[in-house]
Amino acid sequence: MSDTPKTIVRRTPWPVSASRPVVTPLSPSVVYASADPDSLDAQYEGEAHGYTYAREGHPNAEVLARKIDGLEGTEGGLIVGSGMAAVTATFLGLLKAGDHVVGGDQLYGRSLRMMNEELPRFGVATSFADPTDAGAIEQALRPETRMIVVELVSNPTLRVADIPGIAALAQVRDILLVVDNTFTTPRAFKPFEHGADVVIHSVTKLLAGHSDVTLGYVAANDAAHRKAIYDTAVTTGLTPSPFDCWLAERGLYSFELRYDRAEQNAAQLADALAEQPGTARVLYPTRPDHPDHNRATTLLGPRGGNMLSFELKGGRAAANAFTQACPNIAFAPTLGDIGTTLSHPASSSHRALTPEARAGLGISEGFFRVSVGVEPVELLIEEISRAVRIATET
Ligand SMILES: *Cc1c(COP(=O)(O)O)cnc(C)c1O
Repeated sequence: MSDTPKTIVRRTPWPVSASRPVVTPLSPSVVYASADPDSLDAQYEGEAHGYTYAREGHPNAEVLARKIDGLEGTEGGLIVGSGMAAVTATFLGLLKAGDHVVGGDQLYGRSLRMMNEELPRFGVATSFADPTDAGAIEQALRPETRMIVVELVSNPTLRVADIPGIAALAQVRDILLVVDNTFTTPRAFKPFEHGADVVIHSVTKLLAGHSDVTLGYVAANDAAHRKAIYDTAVTTGLTPSPFDCWLAERGLYSFELRYDRAEQNAAQLADALAEQPGTARVLYPTRPDHPDHNRATTLLGPRGGNMLSFELKGGRAAANAFTQACPNIAFAPTLGDIGTTLSHPASSSHRALTPEARAGLGISEGFFRVSVGVEPVELLIEEISRAVRIATET
């Protein structure tokens, strides 16, 4: 009894068990103790595998990274604190002052901002072009272009990039091709099989799938690029939290089931919405009326994904009435949750654009993007169709 006050400050050894836990243990430890300087040396020299300090790596990040590597068909991917941390690690790790980067003109909003506002401050020039047209990307190239960044399916207009055409160009010109695969996921498209050099994910979205963790992933197929990205991420502190990695791994177990179910729901919901007199158009890659239907079929096969967009007839008033009439569907600017969420680009992701620029992209006040979840599809179709009718009745 009297020993307690003296020993309580000592770390307690983990209880020995003849059996092993089934679930991945959570390891929040910031530091890892070594036996002696020789064994620490061996670790730093890569002769022995181990952890030293959590900013440099920890078991929960490693378990999660190996799982996503498996999905993408690669190795050595890195988990970082957010999707934007993955974008940051890629840019800072692989670019230097004087380089030029070409981005798809409908990249994720913060990626656009990073290219417009942040990279130029560090001497990296940027420009944008339409990735559905490899010729337009080619025109934007300069002698100093070092990298092209694209997403296969754009947000929120669901245009499909000509990744094979762009990859061929990148190969000939010796330019790195970076693909943000968040939207499409490796379930539908594996960018490394189509010539990508680097693949990025916001794990926050479909991979983790429950809107309870913010994480990112980045993988490069060249070992020197992997090392550069890793060193930059560790130096700039883009480290993920062990708990977030643990949660994301838990979400990832059901990723393929969730994805398949959400995709089936999305295809049925797209067809149901197209039947509604209150909708002006529906965008979904497997529908024959999609503007890039042929390319979508070539690159994605029957996979349309869980995202669809549609245009409600009527302006902002109809949009307000619509979200109010869908009380069970979160009107929230994210995607990839198990539950269906709705976003309205004109008031959120695309609010900074002029109405003319939005019109150029086809984003009106009645334009909605739907991240379809895994609910019973009848419930979804019923609620959304009813809300369209209520919003567009005159
Ligand atoms: C959400 C998203 C990101 C950013 O990811 P965070 O985890 O929010 O930082 C990057 N790219 C795409 C396509 C996204 O949807």
